Amino acid sequence: MPFVIHGLPVSQGISIGHAHLVSHALLEVNHFQIAPRHVDAEVQRIEDAAAKVRFELRALRETSTTAQSEVAAFVDLHTLLLDDPMLVEASIRLIRERRCNAEWALVQQLEQIVEQFEVIEDSYLRERKADVVQVVERLLKVLLGHPGSVQAKRREGATGAIGSGLKGVVGTIVVAHDLSPADTIHFKNNQIAGFVTDVGGATSHTAIVARSLGIPAVVGLRHVRNVVREDDVVIIDGARGVIIVDPDERVLEEYRLRRSVYELERTKLKRLLTMRAATLDGEMVSLQANIELPGDVTQAREVDADGVGLFRTEFLFMNRDVLPNEDEQFEAYRSVAKAMGGRPVTIRTLDIGSDKALNSGGPRRETNPALGLRAIRYSLSEPQMFLTQLRALLRASYYGKVQILVPMLAHAHEIDATLTAITVAKAQLRAEKVKFDENVRVGGMIEVPAAALSLGVFVKRLQFLSIGTNDLIQYTLAIDRTDEAVAHLYDPLHPAVLRLISQTIQVGTKAGLSVSVCGEMAGDPHYTRLLVGMGLRTFSMHPAQILEVKQEVLRSDSSDLTLKVTKLLRQDEPERISEAVGKL
Ligand code: PEP
Ligand code: MG
Repeated sequence: MPFVIHGLPVSQGISIGHAHLVSHALLEVNHFQIAPRHVDAEVQRIEDAAAKVRFELRALRETSTTAQSEVAAFVDLHTLLLDDPMLVEASIRLIRERRCNAEWALVQQLEQIVEQFEVIEDSYLRERKADVVQVVERLLKVLLGHPGSVQAKRREGATGAIGSGLKGVVGTIVVAHDLSPADTIHFKNNQIAGFVTDVGGATSHTAIVARSLGIPAVVGLRHVRNVVREDDVVIIDGARGVIIVDPDERVLEEYRLRRSVYELERTKLKRLLTMRAATLDGEMVSLQANIELPGDVTQAREVDADGVGLFRTEFLFMNRDVLPNEDEQFEAYRSVAKAMGGRPVTIRTLDIGSDKALNSGGPRRETNPALGLRAIRYSLSEPQMFLTQLRALLRASYYGKVQILVPMLAHAHEIDATLTAITVAKAQLRAEKVKFDENVRVGGMIEVPAAALSLGVFVKRLQFLSIGTNDLIQYTLAIDRTDEAVAHLYDPLHPAVLRLISQTIQVGTKAGLSVSVCGEMAGDPHYTRLLVGMGLRTFSMHPAQILEVKQEVLRSDSSDLTLKVTKLLRQDEPERISEAVGKL
């Protein structure tokens, strides 16, 4: 029987494919039977992995101070779970009796344990299933020797989102409870036609990566992982935030048609490729690209982006145990700088933390990760790592128009400490006779309300500003951008948000700085006219959005919009504001 589930639309487009359920451990492992003569060796592998994890946990316990009693508590709990006969011992039985490979045995055992946890009434105990998942993830990591990734299932003719043959049902649709940005970035090299998850918000980094991949996605579906079965046919309607499971032929036909219409519209937009983005009254607007990995620059060039407005370098640091060294980073930054010719390439220093975790992030558990040691706070707490990145950035600046962008600044002293670190990096390079651009521009993200309300300290110290609306909205409205339960309160048109954005554009521009928006609002054509009316002339977004936004710019009259937006900004009532935005 077909059924429909509603969630949050995060990445447009229509995909029709077969469901591939991703395990709770977020690690898709190989499933195979081993030869009888290899059983003992397979058992040894799992025992060695358990011994290694036990050793790692003990080491963590010993290095945690008394002030970190919560670390000790979770290490003790994880050690208990590791030693529980339900886990390793039962997996060994599976290896011996069914000749499963070790990873498969562990994941099967995990599923069993998780099912038992899910029926426990006590909510505290029920939530401990997350700890079991973490222990299994540790074991799998040791077994695999590296973090796992979600793979598309091999299927004849799997060609991604736009299928043909087999009545258009050819892609793999990943169905998961949750996906981290690190999982999602792997989709870049896999033929995943789309994904759907139980949890998540529209501006979570997982959703952002989906948009950058141009694959349809719906999040916040609550129980999708429990109701969809492996290989079910699933339609994702990314624009409406709806999925249809097990559709009949009539519905399939309708969606094939809608998919063709969508594709046709995207093709028509290509006519705007060679046009400069200017308003009807001649104001030039720069439309730049957000990228996550150096390879994304190809997409940016295909749509003739005016530059890279945001290179999220943290994606170079994720999914690996050893961080990239200076040369590796330099090569990555240089390749983007060179590929963009003389166009600006804005490279943001590491914005790790919150929903973007490093493998080597350690056991530190934060109560509120979005308010914790993330972005510039993390970089300043790791001076050697920061210096390495700054040196690599400066070296790359010799090969193009690189500018350095610093995330999540809130305090004047953070800017000063960053500028001092840049001065140190420059002095070292000079002493080593390494070439770099002496005048490389340094800018700050305005994404914390405190920054938007104290712009004086920013404009005095920096050369450009970039408004991160994703975090600015999260922090102004106190809404976790990754939490589907509060997603309905995440409102880019809240008067407080609009005033902070407008004020930043005004003050920054008046001080002679260039101001851009690089959060998701910049790539949403519903907000283009609003932002032009606020005086914004530099937008940065995923390359896939550039032509749609250009279309809006070409239809805008900036002086007319300035008058209308000035009036709109005086409104407090949400209905009035959204009505006025609709009429712009
Ligand atoms: C933002 O916060 O708007 C932004 C562009 O940064 P990120 O999405 O990477 O946090
Ligand atoms: Mg941000």
